Amino acid sequence: MNEYDSDKMADVLHAWDGMMPTDKPEDADVILFNTCSIREKAEEKVFSDLGRVRPLKQANPDLLICVGGCVASQEGAAILQRAPYVDVIFGPQTLHRLPQLLQARRDTGRPQVDISFPEVEKFDHLPTPQTTSGTAFVSIMEGCSKYCTFCVVPYTRGEEVSRPVADVMRDVHELVAQGVKEVTLLGQNVNAYCGLGDDGETVDFAFLLLSLAALEGITRLRYTTSHPKEMTQRLIDVYSTTPKLVSHLHLPVQSGSDRILAAMKRGHTVLEYKSIIRRVRAARPGICITSDFIVGFPGETEQDFELTMKLIDEIGFDNSFSYLYSPRPGTPAAEMRDDTPHEVKALRLKRLQDRIMEQEDGVAQAMLGTTQRALVEGVSKKDAHELAARTDNNRVVNFSGAPSLIGSFVDLKITQVVRHTLRGELVAHSNER
Ligand code: SAM
Repeated sequence: MNEYDSDKMADVLHAWDGMMPTDKPEDADVILFNTCSIREKAEEKVFSDLGRVRPLKQANPDLLICVGGCVASQEGAAILQRAPYVDVIFGPQTLHRLPQLLQARRDTGRPQVDISFPEVEKFDHLPTPQTTSGTAFVSIMEGCSKYCTFCVVPYTRGEEVSRPVADVMRDVHELVAQGVKEVTLLGQNVNAYCGLGDDGETVDFAFLLLSLAALEGITRLRYTTSHPKEMTQRLIDVYSTTPKLVSHLHLPVQSGSDRILAAMKRGHTVLEYKSIIRRVRAARPGICITSDFIVGFPGETEQDFELTMKLIDEIGFDNSFSYLYSPRPGTPAAEMRDDTPHEVKALRLKRLQDRIMEQEDGVAQAMLGTTQRALVEGVSKKDAHELAARTDNNRVVNFSGAPSLIGSFVDLKITQVVRHTLRGELVAHSNER
């Protein structure tokens, strides 16, 4: 989501003033930090990064320094107290107003702050999406109304707001015309999507997926991230009827203990989560499941943690985003008593990550020798002479092939697994780009 937002900021500045990204901060007219406040570490980084660019501003007073994203949303004008040389502060919902804010800063000589939540206005003011690869992100909803006790998102990004179906379809049509074959639908809880349909009635996420799958140019649909509470049977049924929806589901669970799930205010039990996964697997045998975990939530006992490990063994995950709980100011959990020493929490996290890594390896080993259809995304990160392609179940496979294959589908025989990374050999490719 943050990468998507950063791209949009670059698009807006390019459309306004022809600005182009540069790798050299000393060449920049504008330096823009897109910040994250989901955990403490990400937040602290902002001020040290700002300190690093301060000398550039001293050397070039025309340089404009901007802070956007969730730290900006949370701290607002308070950022100016610690970093008075910042020129513009804007939130995730006001990134489209960057040109006006920069202009106002130049005209008035005063720092500008706009961290309001003007609902979907943003999307009406963003330039047409542009891409040269076969894949693209499309934001379909924003914000979160779940108010989990650990999380800042509802306060920094606002409540859930969905874009109308016609707007999403227009973006996807434009991307398909540019050669995009795979679209990842983005949002904090995409499956809470509730957008206006063409007849003025609201429609759900299953409807949107089916409408997009009906588009000829689209070969694959992904979405991230979702919430177990919104995993309706209608949505699960899409897995049995719609092969274009990929065989990968990222469904955050956070903990395997009902006591902790209740304290987190997640709104579901472990049994309900397991029931969702059972039904998803019945609808799409072999689907890969990934999840988010928070280790060391206030009051998490050894017994609670063992229940999380039990759930991991029962489900079998193919990867996770797992972190230690980080108290966020203003959230209910930050006020909860937390007696567990950091060392104990760190050991728990290591155990959890080791276990999931074993499971990840099991999935990779099972893919060995199979032929996988994969979309070539670009040059491999590991070896500039190789290409990287993504399989239906969200695994990256590195292989030797001509750069002209970028953006097209290939069939790859998986020949090697090196520490979770797959290597493959080209079996066939589709000629159309
Ligand atoms: N749809 C998702 C869900 O079901 O919660 C929301 C995604 S949330 C913005 C991203 C992830 O960040 C969460 O799933 C959670 O694991 C992690 N996270 C959020 N707040 C956190 C905190 N205070 N400490 C550690 N991890 C946190």
